[in-house]
Amino acid sequence: MANKLQWIQDEIQKLKDDGLYNRIRTLSSPQGAWLVVDGKRVLNFCSNNYLGMANHPRIVQAVQEAVKKYGVGPAAVRSIAGTMDLHLELERRLAAFKGVEAAITFQSGFTANLGTIPALVGKDDAVFSDELNHASIIDGCRLSGAKIIRYAHCNPQDLDRVLGEERLKFPRAMVITDGVFSMDGDIAPLDKIYEVAQKYDVILMVDDAHGEGVIGKGGRGIVDHFSLHGKVDVEVGTLSKAFGVVGGVSAGNPVVVEWLRQRGRPFLFSSAMTVPDVAACLAAVDILEESTELVDKLWENTRYFKAEMRRLGFDTGLSATPITPIMLGEAPLAQQFSRELFENGLFAMSIGFPTVPKGKARIRVMISAAHAREDLDKGLEIFARVGRKLGVIL
Ligand code: PMP
Repeated sequence: MANKLQWIQDEIQKLKDDGLYNRIRTLSSPQGAWLVVDGKRVLNFCSNNYLGMANHPRIVQAVQEAVKKYGVGPAAVRSIAGTMDLHLELERRLAAFKGVEAAITFQSGFTANLGTIPALVGKDDAVFSDELNHASIIDGCRLSGAKIIRYAHCNPQDLDRVLGEERLKFPRAMVITDGVFSMDGDIAPLDKIYEVAQKYDVILMVDDAHGEGVIGKGGRGIVDHFSLHGKVDVEVGTLSKAFGVVGGVSAGNPVVVEWLRQRGRPFLFSSAMTVPDVAACLAAVDILEESTELVDKLWENTRYFKAEMRRLGFDTGLSATPITPIMLGEAPLAQQFSRELFENGLFAMSIGFPTVPKGKARIRVMISAAHAREDLDKGLEIFARVGRKLGVIL
C-alpha cells in the first residue's frame, strides 16, 4: 500500500532542495542584544523586541507581583469566567495610549485579525486588501468569506480604481492595510488611503503590528503618525513586538469594539491572555507613557545602522522604519549569508518565498533600543566581512 504521507516527505525534500526549508534555532537566554542560540553567544539582529522590553527589569517585577495576586491562568474564555479586572484595565490603558475610545485584547495579533475581519464583513461583502498584507490579514479575509480584491502595494490610486470598479456590487466593504509592512519596513500612506476610503464609504482597518511602540509620538502608532485620530475605524495590533510580550488588540471606534465582544470568535471561543502577559503589557504601557527614551534610542540606532550599511554598499530596500532588509535575491544565497553570519557570531535570519516574492530573498535585520553603539559596530563589521566573502559588496 502506498504511504499516504509520502507526499509530505516529498514536499519537505523539495523545500530543502530549493533552500526554503525553515531550520529553527533554539534560544537558551532571555531576549536582548545578545542571545545564547544553539549553545553559542551571538549578537541578536532578528527579534521584534524593538524597545528591549521583553526582559525589562520593571516588567519582570510587575509580572512577579501580579502572579502573586492573581496566579497565572484566566481558566476560561473571556465571556464565561475569564475576564479579570486586569484585562479591562489593560484595554482602558491601551485605548488611552493610542488616543482611541475603546480597545479589546486577543491572545495574539494573529487572532486579533482572525477575530476582527470576519466580524465586520461576510460572504456578501468585499475586502479591498493591499497585495502585500500580512498572512494573518489574508487568513482573516478568507475566513470572513468576503470577496478579496487586492490593490497594488501602497498605491491609493489603484485602490481608488478598484473601489470605483467594484464598490457598488457589495452592500458592505472594508479597506485593510498593514501600517508598517513587516518584510520591507515601508509605511502605508494611510492619510491618502483614508481619503479614498471616505470617498467610497467603506470601513477602514489598519494592522499596526510593526508601528506600535515604533512610529507616532512616543510610539503611539500609525494613526498618530498621520494625525488621523478618530478617522480609522479599527486598528489591530500586537503586544508581541515593541511591547515585548504576547497578545493582540483591536482598538478604535467603540461600536466596533462592542461588536467584537459579541462576535469576535477567538474572543468568544478561546481563553484570554494570561496574567503574566497582561501584567507585563500594563507595565509596558507605563514605561511608554512616562518617557520617549526607548523609542528615541530605537530611532537613533536605526538611523545609524542603515546609513552605515548603505555606506558599505548593501541594498537596504525601501524601509522607512527599524525593519532593515538586506536584499540578496535568491534564497540559497540568503540562507548561506545567514549561516556565515551565525558562524561569525551574528544571528539574523534569511527570509525567502513564500514570505517574500521569489527572487527577493533577504536577510531581515531588526534594530532594537537594546543595542548599544558597540553592538551595532560589531554587527556592521560582521556584515562587511560576510558580504565581501560572498561577493555581495566590494
Ligand atoms: N500582523 C503583522 C503585520 C505581523 O507582522 C504579525 C507578526 N508577524 C502579526 C500581525 C501577528 O502578530 P502576533 O505575533 O502577535 O500573532
